[in-house]
Amino acid sequence: MRFYNTLTRKTEEFIPRDRDNVTMYTCGPTVYHYAHIGNLRTYIMEDILEKSLNYIGNKVNRVMNITDVGHLSSDADTGEDKMIKGAQREHKSVMEIASYYTECFKNDCKELNIKWPDTVIPATSMIDDYIEFIKVLESKGYTYFAGGNVYFDTSKLDNYYVLTNNDEENLKEAVRDDVLVDKNKKNKIDFVLWFTKSKFDSQELKWDSPWGVGYPGWHIECSSISLKCLGEYLDIHCGGVDNKFPHHTNEIAQTESYLGHKWCNYWFHPEHLNDASGKMSKSKGEFLTVSLLKEKGYNPLSFRYMCLNSHYRKQLVFSFDNLSSSENAYNKLLNKINSLSEEGEIDTNKFDEYNNKFIEYINNDLNTANAITLIYELLKNDIVNGKTKLELIRSFDKVLSLDLIRKEKVSDKHNYIMSKIDERNNAKKNKDYALADKIRNELAKEGIILVDTREGTTYKLEELYE
Ligand code: AMP
Ligand code: ZN
Repeated sequence: MRFYNTLTRKTEEFIPRDRDNVTMYTCGPTVYHYAHIGNLRTYIMEDILEKSLNYIGNKVNRVMNITDVGHLSSDADTGEDKMIKGAQREHKSVMEIASYYTECFKNDCKELNIKWPDTVIPATSMIDDYIEFIKVLESKGYTYFAGGNVYFDTSKLDNYYVLTNNDEENLKEAVRDDVLVDKNKKNKIDFVLWFTKSKFDSQELKWDSPWGVGYPGWHIECSSISLKCLGEYLDIHCGGVDNKFPHHTNEIAQTESYLGHKWCNYWFHPEHLNDASGKMSKSKGEFLTVSLLKEKGYNPLSFRYMCLNSHYRKQLVFSFDNLSSSENAYNKLLNKINSLSEEGEIDTNKFDEYNNKFIEYINNDLNTANAITLIYELLKNDIVNGKTKLELIRSFDKVLSLDLIRKEKVSDKHNYIMSKIDERNNAKKNKDYALADKIRNELAKEGIILVDTREGTTYKLEELYE
């Protein structure tokens, strides 16, 4: 597979360290409010990347954080703290806000068929790890203490701008107009690892540390969580383009200083979805959420379809007109697919021909728009029979996740599970316990939990999202 690697600024062949354990880290949401559909475009494209890698034979192990503490809008400790702002707005505690909006985000993911990552870690659950991380940086001479805070000293690095090619634009972003310059910093671009002093007297969540009672800076969580859950070498790190600088740049600085070697080989950054005003906002204008789309009568998957029809490295402008056209096209596509009948035997040549084309498109920097066009071509092709078409579309939908095929009839699913239970009983009879376990585990992955009783084996269906 080839995709654009921000680190090398090239579309490159992806070579993981281990295809059976491709490590992927995703910057999660700051849970101070609902996610807007811009945020969700990024998560849709990360979902496509994960599913595409799995489709072509990798096994992705994906970790995501939930930012529930101290995400400042800048590196100066004068930026606003989004979590406190959210709590004040709703007259709730920071933890109440965090747990409510984490649930909302989970629901949005479910509505948009975004797979929930294998491991999801709230930032507040790993404070001891951040402290240990900062202690190592301190012992290696990468930090200084000023005005009550621990800073990372970027002047100790030769190649701080590895991700962004040190240009003026990025520097401007680091010190935005709305943010006062932090006088404690030795260099403008230094960043805080641990705060004990800040303008937020109202900071609710504080922890003891060797530097005093305080809270972590806003980059350390991703570095620590990634190292703890995915090890010293990371294959892919993802986040929206705004994360490149300073967040990801600072993650690389501190993590590679901590490790003493290169950390992550591939950086994946989907472009933004903007509204007509040019920037998607959670405060001004119409706050575009999945719930709002639903209230207006749209199917959330029409939004997914809309995102997949444009390339992830191009900015996309959202309008309800665009969404309406996408919904029309999407509904027509569903109707065409669902009027197919499962007749004939699978034509393996045609299956491979189309499947290879599909793989070619997703391998080409995730060209999902071409992958969708391929479905239209397939539908038009009279030489391919209904059964083959449906099998192909069912297969492509493992990546696209557009619910292209109507859910199986309950009885079909029941028959399938019963045949698997028979297979497992036979395996047990033949003392092939490895096979019996394999069948159980495979069913579990599909959300089908086998229950052994004295009367025999039954099953229950588990929701993918608990
Ligand atoms: P946040 O909740 O602000 O931490 O952002 C969650 C994710 O959404 C991050 O990966 C951001 O880079 C991404 N993001 C923020 N704004 C947009 C946008 N307008 N379009 C696409 N992705 C975005
Ligand atoms: Zn992050």
